[in-house]
Amino acid sequence: MLKTFFSNWKRRIVQFISLGLIGEWSFYGIFRCPFAVPYIGCGNCPVIQCPGRSLWLWSWILIGGSVLVFGRAFCGWICPGGLVSEILSMGSFLKSKLKKRVSAGLAYGKYFVLVLALYFFFLAQNPRWAIPIRTGDFFKSVGLTVEHADPVWIYKILFVLAALGLSLAVPMFWCRFLCPTGGAIEILSRFSLFGFLKNARCSDCDQCRHRCHLETRPSEINCVQCGDCKESCKPNAIEWKSPLAPWRNPDTNFGSGQARSANKPHFL
Ligand code: SF4
Ligand code: SF4
Ligand code: SF4
Repeated sequence: MLKTFFSNWKRRIVQFISLGLIGEWSFYGIFRCPFAVPYIGCGNCPVIQCPGRSLWLWSWILIGGSVLVFGRAFCGWICPGGLVSEILSMGSFLKSKLKKRVSAGLAYGKYFVLVLALYFFFLAQNPRWAIPIRTGDFFKSVGLTVEHADPVWIYKILFVLAALGLSLAVPMFWCRFLCPTGGAIEILSRFSLFGFLKNARCSDCDQCRHRCHLETRPSEINCVQCGDCKESCKPNAIEWKSPLAPWRNPDTNFGSGQARSANKPHFL
């Protein structure tokens, strides 16, 4: 299990560095952020200890830029929430048990949560559901915030924690089915310049899906561009290509219907 976890060691190194740089902000966003939608209104946030106050603007600019170049690679390489989900998913007892159709259907849950988040952010003007109690101690302040928060804030936290915890049963439950950030990135990643794609040699054997921690295949919904599956593909059908410029990809055979469907990025 550990060997598999560290097989793509470059990705793990990047993920742990990122955890060190922005992990604290992630935890503040879950446990102390008073807003309905965390991580976005940081410029006006009264929680003065939160590192997001200085990180948020540049982080979102960089995330947006990375999506347009590398698709959902932020999820696979940078996001601390993705790393935590992967660690929790190491022992998922329902691994490979969800049918493809069920999994693909549930993946649309991300867009539903995204619409809810957009509603709260733009139409309800991102209300504060908690009182940002100021104390130097993180855990004490979390306790005080829970004590004084609106019940809806507590339900939100319980919902996120439960969905993260469900990764113990179904791999990457939060990231695959509910994360609104992942949903937004997935929509934008349709316009990305590069990514892992299947080429005409794909025989639909699904070896990549069995290797994938999100139980998907390159260029399909929930692919986070981690590249972990590349070595598992016996026909060598997984390549780093530009979905926007197939004419630049000389190995791609667009002459057959199978090739066309294999190469078409179908994120949604
Ligand atoms: S889906 Fe959400 S939590 Fe998961 S890696 Fe992407 S942004 Fe992070
Ligand atoms: S990409 Fe490779 S491993 Fe995945 S289904 Fe196609 S042939 Fe099989
Ligand atoms: S399909 Fe391959 S590249 Fe995409 S997330 Fe899964 S293992 Fe990573």
